[in-house]
Amino acid sequence: MTSHIMPTYNRLPVTFERGEGAWLFDEHNNRFLDALSGIAVCNLGHAHPAVHSAICEQSKKLLHTSNVYRIANQELLADKLIEKSGMDNVFFCNSGAEANEAAIKLARKYGHEKGIEYPAIIVMDKSFHGRTLATLSATGNSKVQQGFAPLVEGFVRVPYNDINAIKEALVQNKNIVAILVEPIQGEGGINIPAADYLNRIRGLCDQHGLLMMLDEIQTGIGRTGKFLAFQHNNIIPDVCTLAKALGNGVPIGACLAWGKAARLLTTGNHGSTFGGNPLACSAALAVLATLDKENLIELARQKGQTICDGFNERLQGNKHIVDIRNKGLMIGIELDSPCAGLVKSALEQHLLINVTNETTIRLLPPLIIDEQQIRLLVDTLSALIIEYTEKTAQETLP
Ligand SMILES: *Cc1c(COP(=O)(O)O)cnc(C)c1O
Repeated sequence: MTSHIMPTYNRLPVTFERGEGAWLFDEHNNRFLDALSGIAVCNLGHAHPAVHSAICEQSKKLLHTSNVYRIANQELLADKLIEKSGMDNVFFCNSGAEANEAAIKLARKYGHEKGIEYPAIIVMDKSFHGRTLATLSATGNSKVQQGFAPLVEGFVRVPYNDINAIKEALVQNKNIVAILVEPIQGEGGINIPAADYLNRIRGLCDQHGLLMMLDEIQTGIGRTGKFLAFQHNNIIPDVCTLAKALGNGVPIGACLAWGKAARLLTTGNHGSTFGGNPLACSAALAVLATLDKENLIELARQKGQTICDGFNERLQGNKHIVDIRNKGLMIGIELDSPCAGLVKSALEQHLLINVTNETTIRLLPPLIIDEQQIRLLVDTLSALIIEYTEKTAQETLP
């Protein structure tokens, strides 16, 4: 039993012992299809040989030395991330929340250097940025904040995908120094904004001298069919945060900065004992090399399309489907009523999915998912959705 673990999670009654690509196996050797990837973490699937051998080899040499010294893997990883993102430099940490903490500190420093004593950051409704005090204060979900007041000050909230709301906030508050936003909201329900939303935010940030800060913790590392989601828009943000899939399961986070934002933090301003250690960086280097070697980012785009075409075909005419939407392998199927119960029904069929924002089925399959597994995912989940919507339809009959 888990009685000595704080009950902070609502766990499903299953324990996995090993994995192989998109498969997970429980202790009785039952096989499950993983369409969640440990919440967008294992983008290369489970037990990928490149990651496995990288961390095996590195662990024979050195796990940790601290940032008191130079770290070759960290320097190599920074070079790769800068090359692939077009940004200028990077701070390494160990999680998404920590990456966003670094971004929030950057924005505050930027404000103070402009002579603004109480700098504020625009954040969005339904956003998710983490569980530390500053990042839960930035998060647009009252459940995440409930019970933890006083919150960190300096956040101004506006609706997502609403440029006019940002403009209004800028008129009303002269202390705004940055905008923090997810290119697609993950926890908030796979919310995909207008195609030019990020471009217009970039324009407003340029016009008003604000930092454009993108939380790419869920969208990054190939998930949406580009290495980073902002690359669909041909822009560069001032700050971009990464974590989740960067280490394919080995904890690592990163805060990337560009231009003026890259010059803000100086010696003594920030730090992390574990951040960018030799082991974590060896995993991330293997991840980046494998994305290219196996052409996984291009494949994510194609596979996302195949999966959504499959669902559109199977679920055609079902009145309870509000929307099927995706960017690459970040997929949402929105129903017209709460559907959290589907997670358990899927588990019984040995399929791992997730539901966010109560009514949206969230699929984040690994980028290495193959054709047969895609067919299994579409077949199994479509049947479950049809069964579920027929049942709820019956229950709501007069
Ligand atoms: C998961 C997530 C975070 C938090 O990452 P942790 O590693 O859990 O701290 C922040 N932002 C987004 C968009 C996320 O999906």
